[in-house]
Amino acid sequence: MSERVIALVDQRHPSWALPTPSTPLQLAQLPLDQLQRPLRDLRISVTDRCNFRCSYCMPKEVFDKDYAYLPHSALLSFEEITRTASLFAQRGVQKIRLTGGEPLLRKNLEILIAQLAALRTPEGLPLDLTLTTNGSLLARKAQSLKEAGLQRVTVSLDGLDDAVFRRMNDVDFPVSDVLAGIEAAQAAGMGPIKVNMVVKRGTNDHEIIPMARHFRGTGVVLRFIEYMDVGATNGWRMDEVLPSAQVIERLQAQWPLLALQAAAPGETAERWGYANAQGQHDPALGEIGVISSVTQAFCGDCNRARLSTEGRLYLCLFASQGYDLRPLLREQAASDAHIAATLDAIWRGRSDRYSQRRSELPPEQGSSPARRVEMSYIGG
Ligand code: SF4
Repeated sequence: MSERVIALVDQRHPSWALPTPSTPLQLAQLPLDQLQRPLRDLRISVTDRCNFRCSYCMPKEVFDKDYAYLPHSALLSFEEITRTASLFAQRGVQKIRLTGGEPLLRKNLEILIAQLAALRTPEGLPLDLTLTTNGSLLARKAQSLKEAGLQRVTVSLDGLDDAVFRRMNDVDFPVSDVLAGIEAAQAAGMGPIKVNMVVKRGTNDHEIIPMARHFRGTGVVLRFIEYMDVGATNGWRMDEVLPSAQVIERLQAQWPLLALQAAAPGETAERWGYANAQGQHDPALGEIGVISSVTQAFCGDCNRARLSTEGRLYLCLFASQGYDLRPLLREQAASDAHIAATLDAIWRGRSDRYSQRRSELPPEQGSSPARRVEMSYIGG
């Protein structure tokens, strides 16, 4: 095991006690958390497995052949996921992102997508349904995902140079297959298609310009993500973080960029548009984004909750514990009203703002890896 990767302390099992809803559900009164943030965005992990071993997320030294993945019986069924999602939609959720591990590894995912695509908000609107994938299976699945009701997709791609990409996914997977997946998603009529690149200083930051050049003017929105101290195993160090401000500087040395408005409240990406000769944003040239959880925390309007593949609810990407909803769905056979009221009570008690606090926390507690749940378990 390389000296930097930290052995896993299995964080999947400790849970907070479920709050007992004190008052009957106030349907019209959507919950706000302790920082007055609404519940708008639900990320659902549909598997804890992945066919890549990106070192910043699932280092192969830890997630090796002996790693105990969750048995299928422990995973929420598609019906349980859809029921839970519909109750979240009742309590304010407008956007659902399917994640993993690698979500396209979950068999018959199209069935779940069709079920989620049929859900409506209390106002009768469809949910904004999207998915984050490593793109390895996208070329094969794009058409069926679109037909099932998936309108858009985000693909993780950490470099264009094949050797760099193979090193970062650590399973020797060729970049050409992921690029073919992005093209297949475009051909299937999905959009907007976003590409997320995690930037690790000294590992792939030299790929920033080639990636931008490749996607500029293609309609694909490229976002650069600061390398984060997620989970407990990636051996994160601050000196491997390239602040987004420097990413923008590098891009502006190549192309004129304009700051753009956020597309929606709670959006994680800061948007920059490519400018034309008159200095205005040229939509045909497109835009890029930066996601700066380390240097420009965005906890202030974070409206995201995360559901793990076996039904634990986490209120922050950097959480150490969650709330186990599965007994409500199974053993306790709780009513919709009771589950919705429980979701309300959980959200109202939320005060998470790890990224904001990261710089305030004393070093011995700050980025103390042993306490956080793995990103591959609750989705990015
Ligand atoms: S650190 Fe937690 S609270 Fe802050 S933006 Fe990320 S998920 Fe939200």
